[in-house]
Amino acid sequence: MRNKPSKILVEEACRTSRLVEKLRRNLPAAQFEVVETISDSPLRDPRRLEVVQFRGRFLKSCPGTRHYFCCGYQILHFGVQCSLNCTYCILQAYLNHPNLRIFGNQEDLFRELRQELATHRERLYRIGTGEFTDSLLVDPWTEFSRDLVPFFAKQPNAVLELKTKTDFIDNLRDLDHRGHTLAAWSLNAAPIRRREETAATTIKQRLAAAKKVAQWGYKLAFHFDPMIEYPGWREGYREVLDRLFSSVDTSRIVWISLGAFRFMPELKPIIQRRHPGSTVIYGEFIRGLDGKLRYFRDIRVELYAWMVDRIREVDAHICVYLCMEGEDIWQQVFGFSPQERGGLPAMLDKAVETRMGIAPR
Ligand code: SF4
Repeated sequence: MRNKPSKILVEEACRTSRLVEKLRRNLPAAQFEVVETISDSPLRDPRRLEVVQFRGRFLKSCPGTRHYFCCGYQILHFGVQCSLNCTYCILQAYLNHPNLRIFGNQEDLFRELRQELATHRERLYRIGTGEFTDSLLVDPWTEFSRDLVPFFAKQPNAVLELKTKTDFIDNLRDLDHRGHTLAAWSLNAAPIRRREETAATTIKQRLAAAKKVAQWGYKLAFHFDPMIEYPGWREGYREVLDRLFSSVDTSRIVWISLGAFRFMPELKPIIQRRHPGSTVIYGEFIRGLDGKLRYFRDIRVELYAWMVDRIREVDAHICVYLCMEGEDIWQQVFGFSPQERGGLPAMLDKAVETRMGIAPR
């Protein structure tokens, strides 16, 4: 992975922030420039990192839709964009600011988080940072995890999920996490990784990192999303599952999610232009209730049911869930609907309680 930032653009309001201090220390050779405001620019530069003052809410609900079962996840918005450049990435549609942006006012982020978690002690918060960017992509230089993980360790009603396609785990090594942080990796079949995730680490590197953090006491999660249907997909996904289960003890895995490839129609011309070698958009798709194009239902059921069977052969009790699917698909794949078990958020809360021993008092 070649993604060390070399040009750091900083908004005046963040000039003296702790984050910028850390970036200056960890990136001594980088060129820093302070400007009043960073304006939107369509020019993509994978070496550029922008530090801006964020004025919105840092904690947001996962953008589920009412048509599909949503997991009730909260997103901690600490930055946006990603330089890993996966062909299918939805962030490509955010054309007006294509470069990595991190929010410099992290004190405000922690203030909001502290307030929110204290207001609703009765509920369990499952919070992740890997929705609008990769959770660990710039962590070697921002050291954000070194503040975040110990913060969550002290929250009785919250768990943190760091989701990544990197192996940037060194900052996690000696942290006092008290079992409140899940380290999570997105996984895919090796041929898909090679063609569609060219700048990310290999599956072997991701699993080696997972094995290490498990040795440091962290719990794990894995996301097969997007699952891609291609000739030989069964062999591809079987291989990655075999590697996964020979790398880590399944008792450390809190959940595994499955999500078949889906995309807004506007993304198609962007993928064609930016990644002419990609084949992800040439499957058989229909438009779903959320306006996204997704594989025909039979294909989705086949992908999911096949994966669930393989996972269940190894561990019958891991929480496996589908991302953004409806009642009928759940019934066909699992033989039950999340509603019969209190809803998908309750199923995931249960997994946190059972495998992490955390439940709100
Ligand atoms: S790692 Fe995730 S956020 Fe980054 S480019 Fe790939 S899909 Fe997008």
